[in-house]
Amino acid sequence: MTVGIGICGAAGRMGRMLTRTAHARAGARVAAASERPGNPAVGRDAGELAGLEPLGVAVGDDREALFASSDVAVDFTAPDSTVANARRAAATGTGLVVGTTGLSAGDRAALAECAASAPIVFAANMSLGVNLLLGVTRRVAAALDEDFDIEIVEMHHRHKVDAPSGTALALAEAAAAGRGVDLAAVADRGRDGATGPRRRGAIGMAALRGGDVVGEHAAIFAADGERVEIGHRVTDRGVFARGAITAALWAHGRAPGLYGMEDVLGLGA
Ligand code: NAD
Repeated sequence: MTVGIGICGAAGRMGRMLTRTAHARAGARVAAASERPGNPAVGRDAGELAGLEPLGVAVGDDREALFASSDVAVDFTAPDSTVANARRAAATGTGLVVGTTGLSAGDRAALAECAASAPIVFAANMSLGVNLLLGVTRRVAAALDEDFDIEIVEMHHRHKVDAPSGTALALAEAAAAGRGVDLAAVADRGRDGATGPRRRGAIGMAALRGGDVVGEHAAIFAADGERVEIGHRVTDRGVFARGAITAALWAHGRAPGLYGMEDVLGLGA
């Protein structure tokens, strides 16, 4: 028995990659696909849309129909759609993998609430390497004191609509957790003009945008006389899709709860 995957946002950059990845993965199949009502892809075959042969799965615009046909749904769309999908997952008990970034605190709370009734995997970055980087950042931050200024730098393609990236925020959270501080109290997001000197203990974030950069992140620990830099570069967004389909297979049949990629990949806390 294969696990039927529902692809939300099937016409998107990630959606098309997810269709190809789910189709190629042993144990998985593309069971349904959806797009925003009015999107020109509605009615088209999801396989053809993704550059494959026809799969016999038409892209729909009805969330309820997608959940009715899927064992697990995978959502790389936009925050409003993600929260609506989470509510549908909760109503049906269907697993949901969320890769959408730019979620507000309220959206995150809604996901957590829905996860009481369905298994939901949420990760701002589904790659193995970034999830390792998160763990290493936490450990380095725990080992170094505030003589080391922490800066998180990221760069993405020109189409990205949120900043800093969800991964940069997750890295900042990992650094804050390692240091035992509350990120909201120490975050320095975006400097411009007469900022004054750097606050001791601040965790800075900077976002660069341009070209077709798939995703680059670095955590920098800068002290007088030395600097530690740890980073990660993605050259192919296939790594996100592979992680997301792995998460979907993992989530299928699992108990309700809000999970992260560290659970899927068995990386521990
Ligand atoms: P994109 O704009 O190319 O695709 C998003 C798609 O979702 C669009 O086709 C849009 O029409 C569709 N959509 C919007 N609302 C919808 C709705 N109500 N129902 C169905 N479809 C709907 O964007 P992208 O580059 O594919 O990225 C999508 C999201 O995934 C972004 O938030 C991005 O930051 C995130 N992302 C996460 C990871 C990760 O590893 N977690 C990796 C890459 C991208």
